[in-house]
Amino acid sequence: MNRTNLRNAKRIIIKLGTNTILSNEGINFAKMDRLAYVCASLIQEGKEIVIVSSGAIGVGSKELNEEHYPTTIADQQVASAVGQTILMGHYARFFKYYGVNVGQILLTRDVIDYPQSLQNVQVAMDTLLRRKIVPIINENDAVAVEELNHQTKFGDNDTLSAIVAKMTAADLLVILSDVDGLYDSNPQQNPKARLIDQVNEMTEEIHQMALGKGSEFSTGGMATKLNAAEVILTTNSSLVITSGADPSIIFDILKGETIGTFFHRKGDR
Ligand code: GLU
Repeated sequence: MNRTNLRNAKRIIIKLGTNTILSNEGINFAKMDRLAYVCASLIQEGKEIVIVSSGAIGVGSKELNEEHYPTTIADQQVASAVGQTILMGHYARFFKYYGVNVGQILLTRDVIDYPQSLQNVQVAMDTLLRRKIVPIINENDAVAVEELNHQTKFGDNDTLSAIVAKMTAADLLVILSDVDGLYDSNPQQNPKARLIDQVNEMTEEIHQMALGKGSEFSTGGMATKLNAAEVILTTNSSLVITSGADPSIIFDILKGETIGTFFHRKGDR
């Protein structure tokens, strides 16, 4: 399995981080429009698209004029409850312009831990995809609270997106981020940092490359992306971590071009 096989990927999960979908002014409409166009084009080619989008807490915070990412659980619940509907409203509008319907699925960890509810979600996703509707997934942040019950929270959408890729047997997960991929050291601190082209197994060395957190309005950073990679490397799916500056990059990834960091485990089952 190598990058050229990606042209055959049929079921594709696209994960967008808060910083990818928001700018200082709020939702980045140019980008959301481009994403909708890219997804609609891929659906016309027969692909199935699932989006995992962050941004509920970020959008809600901006809507409520908060200066910082909320730190208390209650404030996060409020921001996400307000932000999620705004976010979905915009997704629905942009996708509809290109003739595509979207459907919201909000997940909590316990849903996927119970075989019956997991199966219900899988059936819902399959049915949406069969009808060419794009499921847009987020963690149900108003409900999933770590302090109440550890089982309810995924914690970050990088990990969530990998779990979604696994449970839907997706061919490819693309994590669109504010970094170009995995570097061998922090590119903001080391101008000689080198972008890693491909990873086939998780090693201690790879983990060391990813220390440090993301920016103010995000929870992830590279560490959670590697958690996602770790999940993907137990499956037959592939993962590409790359820049979300222009969602059209997905077309190039599907042509097999050398973009971002490509994760695929050694040898297929
Ligand atoms: N679920 C959170 C939100 O929508 C984001 C979590 C993350 O950034 O990983 O705001």
